[in-house]
Amino acid sequence: MSTPIKSSYVDGAFVAHHTSVDLLENRNPSSPDEVIERFVRADQALTEQAIAAARRAAPGWARVNAQQRADSLDFIGTEILARREELAQLLSREEGKILREALGEVDRAGRSFKFYAQEVLRADGEKYPSVRQDVSIDVFTQPVGVIGIIAPWNFPIAIPAWKIAPALCFGNCVVFKPAERVPSSAWALAEIISRAGLPAGVFNLLIGPGRSVGDTLIRSRDIDAISFTGSEHTGRQIAKIAAENMTRVQLEMGGKNPLVVLDDADLEQAVDVALNGSFYSTGQRCTASSRVIVTAGIHDAFVQRLAERTRALKVGDALAADTDIGPVVDARQLEQNLGYVSIGQQEGATRVCGGEPVDSPSGAFLFTPALFTDVRPDMRIYREEIFGPVLCVLKVDDYEQALAAAEDTPFGLSAGIVTTSLRHAEHFKRHSSAGMVMINLPTAGVDYHVPFGGNGASSLGAREQGTHARHFFTRVKTAYQLA
Ligand code: NAD
Repeated sequence: MSTPIKSSYVDGAFVAHHTSVDLLENRNPSSPDEVIERFVRADQALTEQAIAAARRAAPGWARVNAQQRADSLDFIGTEILARREELAQLLSREEGKILREALGEVDRAGRSFKFYAQEVLRADGEKYPSVRQDVSIDVFTQPVGVIGIIAPWNFPIAIPAWKIAPALCFGNCVVFKPAERVPSSAWALAEIISRAGLPAGVFNLLIGPGRSVGDTLIRSRDIDAISFTGSEHTGRQIAKIAAENMTRVQLEMGGKNPLVVLDDADLEQAVDVALNGSFYSTGQRCTASSRVIVTAGIHDAFVQRLAERTRALKVGDALAADTDIGPVVDARQLEQNLGYVSIGQQEGATRVCGGEPVDSPSGAFLFTPALFTDVRPDMRIYREEIFGPVLCVLKVDDYEQALAAAEDTPFGLSAGIVTTSLRHAEHFKRHSSAGMVMINLPTAGVDYHVPFGGNGASSLGAREQGTHARHFFTRVKTAYQLA
């Protein structure tokens, strides 16, 4: 085989290897016979080496001049943006989102690094008078130390970027483990970071499985904090171990995000918002709207128009110019989506359209976006995260019922409403318990400079992104001084 073989990056160097070792093949979901690249899997020993390297580098990096940190972050952001087309193609090939979405994701990754390049120089700290005579108090922040970063597969470059950039910005060292389904974007990002002037050990990449590499990271007493995005199941395991070790955690997990559509909504806008939020990126977004809660007066017209627009979506190769919906990430996820379609039918919901595999000569994992009506709140398709383009419509009488239905979930990541009523928009904004609320906008699609995160079973720990990231990536010091 002539596909390249790549490896992890530890203590300032890509790890040397020979071909006989454990290899991971990265395949294209639009064309599963195509192996994009191959990777040598890291093992427990290499994971321990990476953690030790980060530990050694931590005191020095914490003291490094702020301009040097800013310049490194700016270098990374600049190169990501300059190579956006190439990085987006790679991302589309390994994850399956369409090129337009991949370009948006790459831009977002670049902008995150640029944002934190500025954030390095932001004022930090507070001065207080003391209640004691001649005493003054300084409150300021310091780096946490070594951060373990564990990322999911559905945003192969943006999620790593929005974790790595603030970690480095606030003076921490990083051991980064991407998801095994998307090592190529992670490796490309690491390669850029390797040329950004960071001292050896400050940044490390480990390509390997969650059950060995991930597990070693989360159990290590030399890791000071874990920033994780992924499933609720893995998040809960990490939380338990972190509690024993007293490790700081930031967990971003699943969602079952509601979108409310009221009678007074602009019909076309409501359909646009639902279509985008539920089906784009093949529904593989933690912020996707999978429960659409519609009041009775607009319900039939909404469903009819949504079905027309859903049927018109072109499902196909992620890199084809006319594709609206790319493949699902792999055969297992395709099976899961199809499994939920049968569950929905058995539960008595009506499948209005979609929910079927599509034959393709390349064997792509194609699945048509599915629309279910006659859904009851106790159905599994309405309650469980499917992580695919499957939308359930729940019919309710009025806004009060809609809000109650939106709240009826253990999750709380994102929630949306489409309405022309200022009163209802304002009420929803205040009373939804989701971490992010969208008015006349899709539940998915957020900016890079403001807090990101949810409540309930969706998130645990401090918010990601923007200036709020400081709360997770720094420790607070309170210093008293006698004059
Ligand atoms: P996953 O939990 O299977 O894997 C996430 C990461 O954890 C991977 O890198 C994996 O290798 C690692 N991992 C797995 N088991 C581990 C273990 N025992 N110890 C340590 N690490 C381990 O999730 P996924 O399938 O990659 O991602 C899909 C999930 O991510 C969905 O539930 C989705 O909602 C969620 N997600 C959430 C957000 C958010 O911000 N809330 C964003 C994107 C995705």
